[in-house]
Amino acid sequence: MRQPGSTLKPFTYALAFEQGFTPATVLADVPSHFPTAEGGVVYTPRNYDGGYRGPLRARLALAGSENVPAVALLSKVGPPALLRLLRGAGFHDLTRTADYYGLGLTLGDAEVTLEQLVTAYATFARGGISVTPRMILGTRASRPPFSREPAGETPAFPGRTVSQRTAFWITDILSDPKAREFIFGRGGNLEFPFPVAVKTGTSQAYHDNWTIGYTRAVTVGVWVGNFDRTALRNSSGVTGAGPVFHAVMLAAMRRAGGNDSTAIVDRPDDLEEQPICSLSGLRPSTSCPSNETEWLPRDAPVEFCAWHHASGISWPSEYREWAAARERRMNPSAPRATVARDTTFRITSPPNDATYLVDPTLHREFQALHLRATHDATWIVDGKPAAREWPLRTGQHTIVATNARGERDRVYITVR
Ligand SMILES: [Zn+2]
Repeated sequence: MRQPGSTLKPFTYALAFEQGFTPATVLADVPSHFPTAEGGVVYTPRNYDGGYRGPLRARLALAGSENVPAVALLSKVGPPALLRLLRGAGFHDLTRTADYYGLGLTLGDAEVTLEQLVTAYATFARGGISVTPRMILGTRASRPPFSREPAGETPAFPGRTVSQRTAFWITDILSDPKAREFIFGRGGNLEFPFPVAVKTGTSQAYHDNWTIGYTRAVTVGVWVGNFDRTALRNSSGVTGAGPVFHAVMLAAMRRAGGNDSTAIVDRPDDLEEQPICSLSGLRPSTSCPSNETEWLPRDAPVEFCAWHHASGISWPSEYREWAAARERRMNPSAPRATVARDTTFRITSPPNDATYLVDPTLHREFQALHLRATHDATWIVDGKPAAREWPLRTGQHTIVATNARGERDRVYITVR
């Protein structure tokens, strides 16, 4: 039994999706205090890098594995409901009360086994239907070991844990490298030549290190830790769960029949791609500077973005303090984030004042930041010429872009 860390977060989001939330729902990543079952005691979750990112769509909050929005979400849907869902998904050892676990349940404070985690993730891979795992000693020649629901056999005790729609959303988010880029960068052990839904986790004080993921055909779970529960020493991405997961998933998929490029979970017919404002997650108005698309229910009521106006952003009250603090921190000469339609030469990625987190489970040399500007540019990082793919290095960095006309822009980032 070990703390699963962030690998439990998808189940909180799955519960919220069952209750009417969508991947476009905005969650608050701001300093927050949540009441606990103990009178007068409040819970103050923190993100790994100590920063806050303001409003985050559920897609980004889950993919980037932010702690504060996950706790905010659990405070809305309730630990008792999450506990019921987790037990239904196969976590049979969560026998204490919801009050005992509290909001830390979503951050993986309670202990589970690797077998239970793999069973629960396989539920998403099967479109929300859970199965009871069977242990196999060796392999049977009569059928491939990784075949999905072999003909003529029904899984033991099948049951629906979440809807097909929820399983599709969770899978679509966990297999979206763009959605996790703002925290994890691109490349590395989480990316494959075929769709893979994947989540990493570490327990407190780095005792345990997990990577769990699935395709349509296989679910793979890796735990790295010491059997005597001592902390991992000298363990980096090179020796953590990520590289093991990568190698096992590639081998398992070769065995299951090669690179499967079909969707992991079939998209339900009642979801359609709809435009949303990148910031508010609502239907874009003409003032929204940046739009994206999201899979949303065809019959959902349309609500237009009321955050963006020609004169700027009118923040909902819960974000005002965060927005004001960010404004004070930002370099006053830097372009305002709210102005995105001008033709001024500027750096579009990374954003100024961004903090990136090096995932200890990934090969660091493969975690790169894509440097981008509004026009072709040459790049200088910390005074030295740099390629457009800049490998993340911990520390504070100054990034300067210069275009052909000699115009220049500069951003400051922190990598932890
Ligand atoms: Zn907007």
